[in-house]
Amino acid sequence: MSTENNNNLIYESSLKILKDLISFKTISGENNNELIDYCDQILKKFGATSFKTFDDDKKRVNLFATIKAKKSNDKLPIILSGHTDVVPVSKGWSSDPFKAEIKGDKLYGRGSCDMKGFIACTLAYAPIFSSVNLDRDIHFSFTFDEETACLGAPLLIKELKKRKITNGICIIGEPTNMKIIDALKGCYEYTTYFEGLAGHSSTPHKGVSAVEYAARYVKKLIELREKLKEKTPKDSIFDPPYSTLQIGGIFGGIAHNVIADKCYVNWETRPVIKEDGIFLNNEIDNYVNEKLLPEMKKVFPDSKIIKKIIGEVIGFERVEKSEACEFVSSITGDNSKDVVSFGTEAGLFQEVGISTAVCGPGSVEQAHTIDEFIKLDELKKCLKLLEGIKNKSIIN
Ligand SMILES: [Zn+2]
Repeated sequence: MSTENNNNLIYESSLKILKDLISFKTISGENNNELIDYCDQILKKFGATSFKTFDDDKKRVNLFATIKAKKSNDKLPIILSGHTDVVPVSKGWSSDPFKAEIKGDKLYGRGSCDMKGFIACTLAYAPIFSSVNLDRDIHFSFTFDEETACLGAPLLIKELKKRKITNGICIIGEPTNMKIIDALKGCYEYTTYFEGLAGHSSTPHKGVSAVEYAARYVKKLIELREKLKEKTPKDSIFDPPYSTLQIGGIFGGIAHNVIADKCYVNWETRPVIKEDGIFLNNEIDNYVNEKLLPEMKKVFPDSKIIKKIIGEVIGFERVEKSEACEFVSSITGDNSKDVVSFGTEAGLFQEVGISTAVCGPGSVEQAHTIDEFIKLDELKKCLKLLEGIKNKSIIN
Protein backbone atom coordinates (compact mmCIF):
# COMPACT_ATOMS: atom_id res chain seq x y z
CA MET A 1 0.00 0.00 0.00
CA SER A 2 1.27 3.48 -0.81
CA THR A 3 2.26 5.77 2.04
CA GLU A 4 -0.38 8.24 0.99
CA ASN A 5 -3.07 5.58 1.17
CA ASN A 6 -1.80 4.49 4.51
CA ASN A 7 -1.79 8.07 5.84
CA ASN A 8 -5.35 8.47 4.67
CA LEU A 9 -6.40 5.34 6.53
CA ILE A 10 -4.81 6.58 9.74
CA TYR A 11 -6.50 9.95 9.33
CA GLU A 12 -9.90 8.34 8.74
CA SER A 13 -9.33 6.15 11.74
CA SER A 14 -8.47 9.18 13.92
CA LEU A 15 -11.81 10.78 12.95
CA LYS A 16 -13.72 7.61 13.76
CA ILE A 17 -11.97 7.27 17.12
CA LEU A 18 -12.49 10.95 17.93
CA LYS A 19 -16.22 10.59 17.28
CA ASP A 20 -16.32 7.60 19.60
CA LEU A 21 -14.36 9.41 22.31
CA ILE A 22 -16.67 12.44 22.19
CA SER A 23 -19.69 10.16 22.67
CA PHE A 24 -18.43 9.20 26.15
CA LYS A 25 -19.75 11.90 28.51
CA THR A 26 -16.60 12.14 30.55
CA ILE A 27 -17.29 15.42 32.31
CA SER A 28 -14.83 16.02 35.14
CA GLY A 29 -15.86 14.14 38.26
CA GLU A 30 -17.97 11.64 36.30
CA ASN A 31 -17.25 7.99 35.66
CA ASN A 32 -14.77 7.55 32.79
CA ASN A 33 -14.31 3.76 32.96
CA GLU A 34 -16.00 3.11 29.63
CA LEU A 35 -13.80 5.53 27.75
CA ILE A 36 -10.66 4.15 29.37
CA ASP A 37 -11.69 0.56 28.52
CA TYR A 38 -12.27 1.65 24.94
CA CYS A 39 -8.73 3.12 24.74
CA ASP A 40 -7.21 0.14 26.53
CA GLN A 41 -8.83 -2.29 24.08
CA ILE A 42 -7.47 -0.47 21.05
CA LEU A 43 -3.98 -0.35 22.51
CA LYS A 44 -4.05 -3.99 23.61
CA LYS A 45 -5.11 -5.02 20.14
CA PHE A 46 -1.79 -3.63 18.99
CA GLY A 47 0.29 -5.36 21.60
CA ALA A 48 0.40 -2.79 24.36
CA THR A 49 0.60 -3.70 28.01
CA SER A 50 -1.13 -1.44 30.49
CA PHE A 51 -2.03 -0.68 34.05
CA LYS A 52 -4.74 1.46 35.61
CA THR A 53 -4.86 3.65 38.68
CA PHE A 54 -8.18 4.52 40.29
CA ASP A 55 -9.76 7.04 42.60
CA ASP A 56 -11.02 5.74 45.96
CA ASP A 57 -14.34 4.40 44.71
CA LYS A 58 -13.02 3.19 41.32
CA LYS A 59 -15.36 5.56 39.54
CA ARG A 60 -12.59 7.39 37.75
CA VAL A 61 -9.51 5.83 36.28
CA ASN A 62 -6.16 6.65 34.67
CA LEU A 63 -4.65 4.45 31.99
CA PHE A 64 -0.96 4.00 31.31
CA ALA A 65 -0.18 1.74 28.35
CA THR A 66 3.09 0.83 26.68
CA ILE A 67 4.09 -0.42 23.26
CA LYS A 68 7.45 -1.89 24.08
CA ALA A 69 10.65 -1.41 22.11
CA LYS A 70 11.58 -4.42 19.98
CA LYS A 71 15.18 -3.80 20.82
CA SER A 72 15.84 -1.04 23.26
CA ASN A 73 18.87 1.17 23.34
CA ASP A 74 19.48 4.20 25.51
CA LYS A 75 16.92 6.43 23.83
CA LEU A 76 14.50 8.05 26.22
CA PRO A 77 10.99 6.57 26.15
CA ILE A 78 8.18 8.76 24.84
CA ILE A 79 5.07 9.50 26.89
CA LEU A 80 2.05 10.74 24.95
CA SER A 81 -0.17 12.30 27.55
CA GLY A 82 -3.74 13.55 27.57
CA HIS A 83 -6.62 14.05 29.96
CA THR A 84 -9.88 12.25 29.27
CA ASP A 85 -12.23 14.61 31.10
CA VAL A 86 -14.06 17.51 29.53
CA VAL A 87 -15.66 20.58 31.07
CA PRO A 88 -19.46 20.67 31.50
CA VAL A 89 -21.62 22.00 28.67
CA SER A 90 -23.74 25.08 28.99
CA LYS A 91 -26.88 25.79 26.98
CA GLY A 92 -26.65 27.17 23.50
CA TRP A 93 -24.93 24.44 21.48
CA SER A 94 -26.06 24.26 17.86
CA SER A 95 -25.97 20.48 18.02
CA ASP A 96 -25.59 17.68 20.58
CA PRO A 97 -22.20 18.34 22.23
CA PHE A 98 -21.64 14.61 22.70
CA LYS A 99 -22.35 13.68 19.11
CA ALA A 100 -19.45 14.73 16.93
CA GLU A 101 -20.29 16.41 13.69
CA ILE A 102 -18.07 17.41 10.81
CA LYS A 103 -19.04 20.64 9.10
CA GLY A 104 -16.71 22.00 6.47
CA ASP A 105 -13.13 21.85 7.73
CA LYS A 106 -14.05 21.44 11.40
CA LEU A 107 -15.17 18.68 13.73
CA TYR A 108 -17.54 19.85 16.46
CA GLY A 109 -18.10 18.29 19.87
CA ARG A 110 -17.27 18.73 23.54
CA GLY A 111 -13.62 17.76 24.01
CA SER A 112 -12.83 17.86 20.28
CA CYS A 113 -9.88 20.19 20.90
CA ASP A 114 -9.50 19.89 24.69
CA MET A 115 -8.28 17.26 24.32
CA LYS A 116 -9.79 14.15 22.82
CA GLY A 117 -8.48 15.12 19.39
CA PHE A 118 -4.95 14.45 20.55
CA ILE A 119 -5.90 11.19 22.24
CA ALA A 120 -7.68 10.05 19.06
CA CYS A 121 -4.56 10.73 16.98
CA THR A 122 -2.33 8.72 19.32
CA LEU A 123 -4.77 5.79 19.28
CA ALA A 124 -5.08 5.93 15.50
CA TYR A 125 -1.30 5.81 15.29
CA ALA A 126 -0.92 2.82 17.64
CA PRO A 127 -1.00 0.23 14.82
CA ILE A 128 1.95 1.97 13.17
CA PHE A 129 3.97 2.07 16.37
CA SER A 130 3.32 -1.62 16.88
CA SER A 131 4.24 -2.61 13.33
CA VAL A 132 7.68 -0.99 13.20
CA ASN A 133 10.93 -1.94 14.88
CA LEU A 134 10.72 0.43 17.82
CA ASP A 135 13.96 1.05 19.64
CA ARG A 136 12.31 2.84 22.52
CA ASP A 137 9.12 2.38 24.49
CA ILE A 138 6.09 4.46 23.51
CA HIS A 139 3.80 5.14 26.44
CA PHE A 140 0.22 6.39 26.40
CA SER A 141 -0.91 8.25 29.50
CA PHE A 142 -4.61 9.06 29.78
CA THR A 143 -5.79 10.68 32.99
CA PHE A 144 -9.05 11.71 34.65
CA ASP A 145 -10.11 15.04 36.16
CA GLU A 146 -7.42 17.35 34.81
CA GLU A 147 -9.90 20.20 34.50
CA THR A 148 -10.63 20.11 38.21
CA ALA A 149 -7.20 20.79 39.71
CA CYS A 150 -5.44 17.77 38.15
CA LEU A 151 -6.89 15.22 40.56
CA GLY A 152 -6.11 12.13 38.48
CA ALA A 153 -2.53 12.61 37.37
CA PRO A 154 -0.87 12.55 40.81
CA LEU A 155 -2.20 9.00 41.36
CA LEU A 156 -0.71 7.90 38.06
CA ILE A 157 2.60 9.61 38.69
CA LYS A 158 2.89 7.99 42.09
CA GLU A 159 2.60 4.63 40.36
CA LEU A 160 5.16 5.64 37.72
CA LYS A 161 7.62 6.41 40.51
CA LYS A 162 6.95 3.00 42.02
CA ARG A 163 7.61 1.38 38.64
CA LYS A 164 10.70 3.54 38.15
CA ILE A 165 9.37 5.22 35.03
CA THR A 166 10.83 8.61 35.89
CA ASN A 167 12.84 9.33 32.81
CA GLY A 168 11.58 10.16 29.39
CA ILE A 169 10.14 12.70 27.03
CA CYS A 170 6.54 13.62 27.72
CA ILE A 171 4.39 15.37 25.16
CA ILE A 172 1.15 16.75 26.56
CA GLY A 173 -1.25 17.30 23.69
CA GLU A 174 -3.23 20.25 25.04
CA PRO A 175 -4.52 22.52 22.29
CA THR A 176 -1.63 24.80 21.31
CA ASN A 177 -2.02 24.81 17.53
CA MET A 178 0.94 22.41 17.56
CA LYS A 179 3.20 25.11 19.03
CA ILE A 180 5.50 24.32 21.92
CA ILE A 181 4.56 25.63 25.35
CA ASP A 182 7.38 25.20 27.85
CA ALA A 183 6.22 27.07 30.94
CA LEU A 184 3.01 27.58 32.90
CA LYS A 185 2.06 29.20 36.17
CA GLY A 186 0.99 26.96 39.00
CA CYS A 187 -2.65 26.87 40.04
CA TYR A 188 -3.51 26.42 43.71
CA GLU A 189 -7.12 26.37 44.81
CA TYR A 190 -8.40 26.52 48.38
CA THR A 191 -11.61 26.71 50.36
CA THR A 192 -11.32 28.13 53.86
CA TYR A 193 -14.12 27.29 56.30
CA PHE A 194 -14.99 29.47 59.30
CA GLU A 195 -17.03 28.19 62.24
CA GLY A 196 -18.09 30.58 64.96
CA LEU A 197 -21.05 30.85 67.29
CA ALA A 198 -24.55 31.89 66.24
CA GLY A 199 -26.47 34.47 68.23
CA HIS A 200 -28.80 37.43 68.12
CA SER A 201 -27.44 40.51 66.43
CA SER A 202 -28.40 42.66 69.43
CA THR A 203 -25.75 40.92 71.54
CA PRO A 204 -22.73 40.62 69.23
CA HIS A 205 -20.34 40.07 72.16
CA LYS A 206 -22.03 36.74 72.87
CA GLY A 207 -21.51 35.30 69.41
CA VAL A 208 -18.61 34.77 66.99
CA SER A 209 -19.43 35.94 63.50
CA ALA A 210 -17.93 33.56 60.97
CA VAL A 211 -18.75 36.07 58.24
CA GLU A 212 -16.80 38.87 59.88
CA TYR A 213 -13.74 36.70 60.48
CA ALA A 214 -13.93 35.51 56.90
CA ALA A 215 -13.99 39.14 55.78
CA ARG A 216 -10.81 39.87 57.73
CA TYR A 217 -9.21 36.78 56.20
CA VAL A 218 -10.11 38.02 52.73
CA LYS A 219 -8.71 41.48 53.55
CA LYS A 220 -5.44 39.86 54.59
CA LEU A 221 -5.29 37.85 51.36
CA ILE A 222 -5.77 41.04 49.36
CA GLU A 223 -2.93 42.68 51.29
CA LEU A 224 -0.73 39.69 50.55
CA ARG A 225 -1.63 40.00 46.90
CA GLU A 226 0.17 43.36 46.87
CA LYS A 227 3.20 41.71 48.47
CA LEU A 228 3.24 39.15 45.66
CA LYS A 229 3.44 41.99 43.14
CA GLU A 230 6.42 43.43 45.01
CA LYS A 231 8.07 40.02 44.74
CA THR A 232 7.87 39.88 40.92
CA PRO A 233 10.87 37.87 39.70
CA LYS A 234 13.10 40.06 37.52
CA ASP A 235 13.29 37.56 34.67
CA SER A 236 9.62 36.55 34.76
CA ILE A 237 8.34 35.24 31.43
CA PHE A 238 4.67 35.44 32.38
CA ASP A 239 1.89 37.92 31.79
CA PRO A 240 1.21 39.33 34.31
CA PRO A 241 4.77 38.74 35.53
CA TYR A 242 3.85 38.23 39.19
CA SER A 243 1.90 35.59 41.11
CA THR A 244 -1.81 36.43 41.14
CA LEU A 245 -4.47 35.84 43.78
CA GLN A 246 -8.22 35.88 43.42
CA ILE A 247 -11.18 35.56 45.77
CA GLY A 248 -13.72 33.45 43.92
CA GLY A 249 -16.56 33.64 46.42
CA ILE A 250 -17.69 34.23 50.02
CA PHE A 251 -20.65 32.26 51.28
CA GLY A 252 -22.25 32.57 54.70
CA GLY A 253 -24.97 33.95 56.89
CA ILE A 254 -28.75 33.52 57.05
CA ALA A 255 -30.35 36.81 58.05
CA HIS A 256 -29.73 40.48 58.85
CA ASN A 257 -30.25 39.97 62.55
CA VAL A 258 -28.50 36.64 63.10
CA ILE A 259 -24.80 36.27 63.88
CA ALA A 260 -23.54 33.85 61.27
CA ASP A 261 -21.90 30.73 62.65
CA LYS A 262 -20.67 29.48 59.28
CA CYS A 263 -18.93 30.99 56.31
CA TYR A 264 -16.51 29.83 53.66
CA VAL A 265 -14.24 31.49 51.17
CA ASN A 266 -13.12 30.13 47.80
CA TRP A 267 -9.80 31.51 46.62
CA GLU A 268 -6.95 30.65 44.33
CA THR A 269 -3.43 31.73 43.54
CA ARG A 270 -1.29 31.24 40.44
CA PRO A 271 2.32 31.30 41.54
CA VAL A 272 5.04 32.14 39.03
CA ILE A 273 7.54 30.44 41.31
CA LYS A 274 6.97 27.73 43.90
CA GLU A 275 8.35 29.97 46.67
CA ASP A 276 5.46 32.42 46.27
CA GLY A 277 2.99 29.64 47.01
CA ILE A 278 4.91 28.72 50.15
CA PHE A 279 5.21 32.38 51.22
CA LEU A 280 1.51 33.02 50.78
CA ASN A 281 0.42 29.90 52.66
CA ASN A 282 2.82 30.61 55.53
CA GLU A 283 1.65 34.20 55.90
CA ILE A 284 -2.07 33.46 55.83
CA ASP A 285 -1.72 30.42 58.12
CA ASN A 286 0.25 32.48 60.64
CA TYR A 287 -2.39 35.20 60.55
CA VAL A 288 -5.03 32.58 61.34
CA ASN A 289 -3.09 30.88 64.11
CA GLU A 290 -1.70 33.97 65.79
CA LYS A 291 -4.50 36.45 65.32
CA LEU A 292 -7.93 35.33 64.09
CA LEU A 293 -8.37 31.98 65.77
CA PRO A 294 -7.21 33.05 69.26
CA GLU A 295 -9.69 35.96 69.10
CA MET A 296 -12.53 33.67 68.07
CA LYS A 297 -11.68 31.14 70.76
CA LYS A 298 -11.70 33.74 73.49
CA VAL A 299 -15.47 33.95 73.03
CA PHE A 300 -16.15 30.45 71.80
CA PRO A 301 -13.41 27.80 72.37
CA ASP A 302 -14.77 25.47 69.68
CA SER A 303 -14.34 28.04 66.91
CA LYS A 304 -12.60 26.72 63.83
CA ILE A 305 -10.81 27.92 60.72
CA ILE A 306 -10.01 25.12 58.32
CA LYS A 307 -8.20 25.62 55.03
CA LYS A 308 -8.96 22.82 52.61
CA ILE A 309 -6.69 22.30 49.63
CA ILE A 310 -8.83 21.77 46.53
CA GLY A 311 -5.78 21.30 44.35
CA GLU A 312 -2.19 22.45 44.18
CA VAL A 313 -1.08 22.05 40.59
CA ILE A 314 2.52 23.08 40.53
CA GLY A 315 3.81 25.29 37.76
CA PHE A 316 5.73 24.10 34.76
CA GLU A 317 9.12 25.77 34.70
CA ARG A 318 11.12 26.74 31.68
CA VAL A 319 14.44 24.90 31.62
CA GLU A 320 17.47 25.96 29.65
CA LYS A 321 17.94 22.71 27.81
CA SER A 322 14.77 20.72 27.39
CA GLU A 323 15.06 17.33 25.70
CA ALA A 324 11.31 17.30 25.11
CA CYS A 325 11.27 20.73 23.42
CA GLU A 326 14.30 19.88 21.30
CA PHE A 327 12.73 16.59 20.31
CA VAL A 328 9.45 18.17 19.21
CA SER A 329 11.22 21.06 17.45
CA SER A 330 13.41 18.65 15.55
CA ILE A 331 10.26 17.10 14.08
CA THR A 332 8.07 20.16 13.51
CA GLY A 333 10.94 22.46 12.53
CA ASP A 334 9.43 25.11 14.80
CA ASN A 335 11.89 26.33 17.42
CA SER A 336 9.61 28.89 19.01
CA LYS A 337 8.56 28.45 22.63
CA ASP A 338 5.80 30.20 24.44
CA VAL A 339 4.06 30.43 27.78
CA VAL A 340 0.32 30.30 28.41
CA SER A 341 -1.91 30.83 31.38
CA PHE A 342 -4.01 27.67 31.29
CA GLY A 343 -3.14 24.78 33.58
CA THR A 344 -1.88 21.35 32.56
CA GLU A 345 -0.31 18.29 34.09
CA ALA A 346 3.11 19.31 32.75
CA GLY A 347 4.57 20.43 36.09
CA LEU A 348 3.68 17.08 37.64
CA PHE A 349 5.65 15.12 35.05
CA GLN A 350 8.51 17.60 35.20
CA GLU A 351 8.69 17.27 38.97
CA VAL A 352 9.58 13.56 38.79
CA GLY A 353 12.32 14.19 36.24
CA ILE A 354 10.50 13.61 32.96
CA SER A 355 11.37 16.20 30.31
CA THR A 356 8.06 17.70 29.21
CA ALA A 357 6.64 19.86 26.44
CA VAL A 358 3.05 20.91 25.86
CA CYS A 359 2.14 20.65 22.19
CA GLY A 360 -1.09 19.49 20.63
CA PRO A 361 -3.73 20.03 17.97
CA GLY A 362 -6.46 22.65 18.11
CA SER A 363 -6.65 26.09 19.62
CA VAL A 364 -7.21 26.95 23.25
CA GLU A 365 -9.63 29.62 22.00
CA GLN A 366 -12.14 26.86 21.34
CA ALA A 367 -11.48 24.98 24.57
CA HIS A 368 -14.35 25.10 27.08
CA THR A 369 -16.55 27.07 24.63
CA ILE A 370 -20.01 26.49 23.24
CA ASP A 371 -19.71 24.73 19.87
CA GLU A 372 -16.14 23.62 20.64
CA PHE A 373 -14.42 22.40 17.49
CA ILE A 374 -11.11 21.27 16.13
CA LYS A 375 -9.91 22.06 12.65
CA LEU A 376 -9.38 18.86 10.68
CA ASP A 377 -6.08 20.24 9.50
CA GLU A 378 -4.83 20.29 13.10
CA LEU A 379 -5.48 16.55 13.41
CA LYS A 380 -3.42 15.99 10.28
CA LYS A 381 -0.58 18.06 11.75
CA CYS A 382 -0.74 16.01 14.93
CA LEU A 383 -0.53 12.77 12.94
CA LYS A 384 2.52 14.24 11.21
CA LEU A 385 4.13 14.80 14.59
CA LEU A 386 3.41 11.18 15.53
CA GLU A 387 4.94 10.05 12.25
CA GLY A 388 8.05 12.08 13.14
CA ILE A 389 8.14 10.43 16.57
CA LYS A 390 7.93 7.03 14.89
CA ASN A 391 10.77 7.91 12.51
CA LYS A 392 12.95 8.87 15.46
CA SER A 393 12.10 5.69 17.30
CA ILE A 394 13.02 2.94 14.86
CA ILE A 395 16.06 0.75 14.58
CA ASN A 396 18.15 1.74 11.61
ZN1 LIG B 1 -7.14 20.50 28.62
